[in-house]
Amino acid sequence: MAIDRDEVRDLDEHDELAWLRAEFTLPAGEIYLDGNSLGPLPKATAKAVSDVVRRQWGRDLIRSWNTHHWLDLPLAVGNAIAPLIGAAPGEVVAADSTSVNLFKLVAAALRLRPGRPVVLSPSDNFSTDLYIVQGLAELLGGTVELRTMPTDDLAAAIDQRTALVMLTQVDFRTGRLHELAGWTRLAHRHGALILWDLAHSAGALPVDLAAAGADLAVGCGYKYLNGGPGAPAFAYVAARHHDQLTSPLWGWMGHQAPFAFDQGFTPAAGITRLLCGTPPILGLTALACGVELLREAGIANLRRKSIALGELFLRLVQERCEGGDFELASPADPEQRGSQLSLRHPQGYAIVQALIARGVIGDFREPDILRFGLAPAFLRYVDIFDAVAELTAVMTERAWDRPECRERARVT
Ligand SMILES: *Cc1c(COP(=O)(O)O)cnc(C)c1O
Repeated sequence: MAIDRDEVRDLDEHDELAWLRAEFTLPAGEIYLDGNSLGPLPKATAKAVSDVVRRQWGRDLIRSWNTHHWLDLPLAVGNAIAPLIGAAPGEVVAADSTSVNLFKLVAAALRLRPGRPVVLSPSDNFSTDLYIVQGLAELLGGTVELRTMPTDDLAAAIDQRTALVMLTQVDFRTGRLHELAGWTRLAHRHGALILWDLAHSAGALPVDLAAAGADLAVGCGYKYLNGGPGAPAFAYVAARHHDQLTSPLWGWMGHQAPFAFDQGFTPAAGITRLLCGTPPILGLTALACGVELLREAGIANLRRKSIALGELFLRLVQERCEGGDFELASPADPEQRGSQLSLRHPQGYAIVQALIARGVIGDFREPDILRFGLAPAFLRYVDIFDAVAELTAVMTERAWDRPECRERARVT
């Protein structure tokens, strides 16, 4: 029997994470299925940032670096993120963007594996991950080589020339989950290091870098961590690599004693050596609030709800969009996917635009993917029901078949 709206409302009434939605500012009358791209604003963030602006910056001025522990924030926020990704205290810093952290860690990995010129990555990895290695290879004048190939061919390509295997745990298009421990073991068997991009994993599902034995990782602050637009990203380095780790960006905040103003660079102990310039205090303050909410909710609870939302979404699409010509781009097995569902349709872009016009905010990824982020922190089951109802209406009314739905914006 087809599931009805009352049954779905019942799921919300028994949802142990239902309280969490009220901690976010969400526009009325919209269903936000893009928390995987830009997480919504936690109410605590507006307050905390305002306090830092008015009281710490506005009144205490430069003393705040000491009195409000501004200088400690990159490590403190890193330590707050650590349990979400299976890292120990002191193994994570919040700093820079994901792209810049990739640059630092790929360069550091190459230094840790001298004589090995190859960085291996799937050809459908996120664009910036590939660009960063291409740029680094050019900078290093041909001593480094990026080799890309379909993921299915990657395992066989790891060999004695491989310095680094670079993978994104959750594929940003399809949501496909790459197995953390298995790939890490494979890289290590050939003496290579592994770097995990956790952009679509951190805050969405439990990640255990320690259990996997991973070497390096990066991730985004503005997606499931709800740190706000352009939030600082994070970088992880397993403690066993800290002493040999060399950042390619020698800035004073990575120095052992920044305020000694020494002429030569001596790296700080531990993960701090990955820092470069002055930390963005407003951004770190906001990120800390987003992370704190997830920690209160518990990452295992969030994952459980995310899977339930995804299963409901799929069941509804199957029941209601019969003949809508959607093809499931995500793995059907919830254990094999992250916290998103992707559907393929030749009119994907126009359908997403028609949905946005009706208040259902998803996004589109080339060439034909409708992407729906199912962030469990603030979505209700009834939101999923209503979103699929709108999708069904868009298809039966051919609401996508209008010129204004085909116009491309800069951000899709
Ligand atoms: C979102 C995302 C990024 C973004 O990098 P920025 O430097 O923050 O713009 C990088 N990698 C992956 C896999 C992503 O999903």
